[in-house]
Amino acid sequence: MGLPHEESSHMAKPQTRSDDLTLIRAERLSAGYGSNLAIRDIDLEIRRGEVVALFGPNGAGKTTTLLTLGGELRAATGRVVWNNSGKWEPLHRRARQGFAFVPEDGAVFGGLTAHQNLMVARRAERDSAMHVFPELRDLLHRRGGLLSGGEQRMLAVGRAIGGPTRLLVADELSLGLAPRTVGVILKAIRAAAERGLGALIVEQHVHRALGFVDRVYVMQRGRITLDMTAAEARKNIDEIQAQYLTAEAPAGITANGNNVEPTEGGGA
Ligand code: ATP
Repeated sequence: MGLPHEESSHMAKPQTRSDDLTLIRAERLSAGYGSNLAIRDIDLEIRRGEVVALFGPNGAGKTTTLLTLGGELRAATGRVVWNNSGKWEPLHRRARQGFAFVPEDGAVFGGLTAHQNLMVARRAERDSAMHVFPELRDLLHRRGGLLSGGEQRMLAVGRAIGGPTRLLVADELSLGLAPRTVGVILKAIRAAAERGLGALIVEQHVHRALGFVDRVYVMQRGRITLDMTAAEARKNIDEIQAQYLTAEAPAGITANGNNVEPTEGGGA
C-alpha cells in the first residue's frame, strides 16, 4: 500500500521548502472559535505557480484554516507568514497585497448586476475576469442574485484571479455546480497558476480536482494528516477516499507523529 502509515512519511514531512517562491506559510498554526480550537498545529505552504487542494471530511477544519490564513480569524498559537511578515493583518489589508479570498457563498452581491459586481474590482481585474470567463460578457446586466450558481462562481473567481492577485484562497469551489462548470473554473485557476498565481482550494470533487492541482493536503479533526503531491494522491486515490475522507477517521491515524484527538470544536 502506498499510503503513509505511522512510521513513514508524508504526514510529518512537508513536500516543499520555504524560499522566495513561498507566498504564504502556516507555522504550527492553531485557531478556532472562542476557547474551542478547530485547527491545531497546522503547517502548510503555498508557492507561486502552484495549485494546492485542501481535502477533508465535513467539520475537519478546512474553512477555519482558510479564514485564519486570510486574517478573518486570529491564530491562537503559531502564525501565518504572508508577504514576508508573520504579523496578523485583517483580510482587507491582505487583499490590497494580492490575497484573494473566495468564500463558500462566492461573495457575489445579489442586488448588484454582474457588471456592478465587477466594478468592485479594478479595471484590469474586470477585463481579466471577462477574459478568463468570456461567458460573463453576456451576463453583465443581470443581477448577481439571478445568476446561476456556476455563473456566480465564475464571477467571483474571475474577479479574484484578475489583476494583481498573487494568491487565491477558495472555499468549496464547486459546491452545487455542474461538472462542466467545475472543469471550466479549475482550468482557469490552473491557467492563472501557469502565469504565477498560487492557489489553495477546498474541493469536494477529489477525483476531478486531482487533475488540476500540484499538491494535496488532507485534514482530519483539525490536523493535517496527509501532505503529498497530486501524482502520489492519484496513485492512492481509493485508499485516501476510504481512510481519510470518510466522516470518521479510523483509529490510529496520526498527524505529525502524534495521535489525533478530536478537537474541542467537534471535528469530523
Ligand atoms: P465543512 O466541509 O463541513 O464546511 P470544514 O472542514 O470546513 O467543514 P470548519 O467549518 O472549519 O470545517 O469547522 C471546523 C470545526 O469548527 C467544526 O467542529 C465546526 O463545528 C466548528 N466551527 C465552525 N465554525 C464555527 C463557529 N462560527 N463557531 C463555533 N464553531 C465553529
